[in-house]
Amino acid sequence: MPDAVLGLETEDIKNHLGSILPGYRAAQLYTALYQQRVRAWEDVTTLTRQARAELAAAYVVGWPELQQRFESTDGTRRYLLRLIDGKTVEAVLMPEGARNTICVSTQVGCPVDCKFCLTALMGLERNLTAGEIVGQILYVLEDNQLTGGLQRINIVFMGMGEPLLNLPNVLKATRILTDVKGVGLSPRRITLSTSGIIPRISELGAAPVRPKLAISLNASSDVARRELMPITRKYSLSALLEACRAYPLRSWEKLTFEYVLLRDVNDTDADARRVVRLLANLNCIVNLIALNPGPGIPFGTPDPQRVDAFQRIVQKAMPCFVRKPRGRDVYAACGQLKRVSQAEIEQFPILVNA
Ligand code: SAH
Ligand code: SF4
Repeated sequence: MPDAVLGLETEDIKNHLGSILPGYRAAQLYTALYQQRVRAWEDVTTLTRQARAELAAAYVVGWPELQQRFESTDGTRRYLLRLIDGKTVEAVLMPEGARNTICVSTQVGCPVDCKFCLTALMGLERNLTAGEIVGQILYVLEDNQLTGGLQRINIVFMGMGEPLLNLPNVLKATRILTDVKGVGLSPRRITLSTSGIIPRISELGAAPVRPKLAISLNASSDVARRELMPITRKYSLSALLEACRAYPLRSWEKLTFEYVLLRDVNDTDADARRVVRLLANLNCIVNLIALNPGPGIPFGTPDPQRVDAFQRIVQKAMPCFVRKPRGRDVYAACGQLKRVSQAEIEQFPILVNA
């Protein structure tokens, strides 16, 4: 399998491609990859014909290819993208007025065994490279002609996978995405969500260029969280909240806590009050997500009234929002990314889109 250049930073280009490209050409290739978004060597017109031929003999540019695109009735698009080794991952575009959110994967599958998540059923196939993470975003931007107005694009590392188990590649992708000479996205609009890999939280906090941090809380006590997210046995809820308190927030930043509401499991008023107590001294907001259902997921979605009641209690103490489900009908919503095919969509149609 040929190597890909997508995902290289200028220094990497100098180090790896020095025998083909003189050092001063490294910046030109970097601009071609991330600003001009070239997909093929013949499009890198700033390089000589000979350099292009030599590069093409040894490397591919490394864009993913479209395997399938699924269109939701609400405008959400789920992309099944094929990587250069043939493995596939999913990315999702959620347009909302002038704003677009792109949700990307950081691993093929996920090794964390959350009981409410379809991705968990895949297990982990492998980590994505920085180039494969950036490639998903470039693909979705190009496919939707999102060229100007990059400042209105939100990126969330909330697709398949646990980003903190692939932190070096996630950080490298973030540097390329936020570099003004790279993709040029706003660093304030990139967010990573984690199930709570505690040792990696402080490592993230120490990175000079990093996404905002969201934590999947999903339960109001250690005992309950262990049932839903077995990773809690390794990283307890109290230790997780301790790591959150120690996290070095930037002046403009707040922590986000996500809480998936499961009918009659973690959605009571008492749960909401416990959430308030757990998060009391943190500078944070809470995002509630009513469960997105799927085959093999043994939980139900709470009624909208229950979601409202939960929100009202938390809202008294801190900002609390209900995340609108997007793309459930095509298995594009949170926790539904398991490469579900058209045939499976028809076999297990999701009619809830409240
Ligand atoms: N692995 C990371 C990021 C990907 S999951 C994490 O767990 O945080 C993104 C979000 O979707 C998480 O907050 C997770 O709790 C939530 N989620 C998982 N399964 C879900 C489901 N079936 N319905 C709604 N949200 C779900
Ligand atoms: Fe992995 Fe996140 Fe799904 Fe848990 S919720 S299995 S960490 S993708």
